[in-house]
Amino acid sequence: MKKLTFDNGDTMHAIGLGTWKATGNDVKNAVKEALYAGYRHIDTAAVYGNEEVIGEALSEVFAEGNILREDVFVTSKLWNDAHQEGYVIPAIEDTLKKLKLDYLDLYLIHWPVAFKPGVGFPEKSSDYLTPEEAPISTTWKQMEEAKRTGHTKHIGVSNFSKEKLKDLINSAEIKPEMNQVEMHPYLQQNDLVEFCKKENILMTAYSPLGSGDRSAAMKGEDEPNLMEIDEINEIAKKQGASAAQVLINWHTQRDIATIPKSASKEHIKDNFKAAAVELDEDDMKKIAGLNKNYRFITGKFFENPEKGYENIYND
Ligand code: NDP
Repeated sequence: MKKLTFDNGDTMHAIGLGTWKATGNDVKNAVKEALYAGYRHIDTAAVYGNEEVIGEALSEVFAEGNILREDVFVTSKLWNDAHQEGYVIPAIEDTLKKLKLDYLDLYLIHWPVAFKPGVGFPEKSSDYLTPEEAPISTTWKQMEEAKRTGHTKHIGVSNFSKEKLKDLINSAEIKPEMNQVEMHPYLQQNDLVEFCKKENILMTAYSPLGSGDRSAAMKGEDEPNLMEIDEINEIAKKQGASAAQVLINWHTQRDIATIPKSASKEHIKDNFKAAAVELDEDDMKKIAGLNKNYRFITGKFFENPEKGYENIYND
């Protein structure tokens, strides 16, 4: 399995298990199956509501004695209602308690948007805090503290554009070590990838398979299915791989981690085996030609110009 390396030498498997939309026994079994299949990288977030049950899966597997805590890279994310001064450390402590862990490997600011404490999803303008009321620099200082105190080994962000990263870097003592963003052949993010490489910020691609299990309310009209793209299927056929494996392998070939979500034992195994696929130059060239700057996760649900959140991705 390809690994991404942090400045201090810590490594992270390039293929991890995504867990958004997976709850209860489904995610508990998925995490266990994934670990048994060889995964050593699990992605969750406070807002997914599944940290507790993922914690059960992890502690049960660790108790078996074959896979140790230090073998597994665990990422979680700070929700938008805990950006203000004094909120980040309690939020990560709550996450650690739920996951039954002493430390996280990576903690990310989930979105560059702030809500009032207790707001899950904003229903009205007054649910938001403006960037002046909850500056990202204040949130980041607390993320830095979480790293210094050992609550997490690494810190980073998610859904941050180049512009937002530049602002953050300007005021940071510790640079963000990771930017987790949507990425796939229809959203190649080449400019952001180049910037992050230059700044030594690692990247993780989310929704690599097109996030087809979102609720109808979250989906756009006539969303494409990445696993049905002709070129992807031609490459899959040539490589003796599945379309999902081609989509996953494309990231690892670009030295980017990816976290396909699955609650199916078969898919979990199939996705992990994407590590063995080797896309050649022709395949990479063919995929490079597919970009449409198409987002499944549009971010529109958080946009509120009145409160200073106009263009989340600075597109
Ligand atoms: P994905 O692109 O990973 O797609 C998940 C869907 O693909 C599910 O329906 C799953 O079904 C299906 N699937 C998985 N493997 C296969 C396969 N081999 N063949 C066919 N279908 C397959 O969507 P997500 O949006 O969940 O993204 C992945 C992860 O990224 C999330 O779970 C989360 O951890 C993270 N994320 C982070 C965000 C952020 O803001 N930072 C935003 C969005 C996602 P099944 O379960 O049946 O296998």
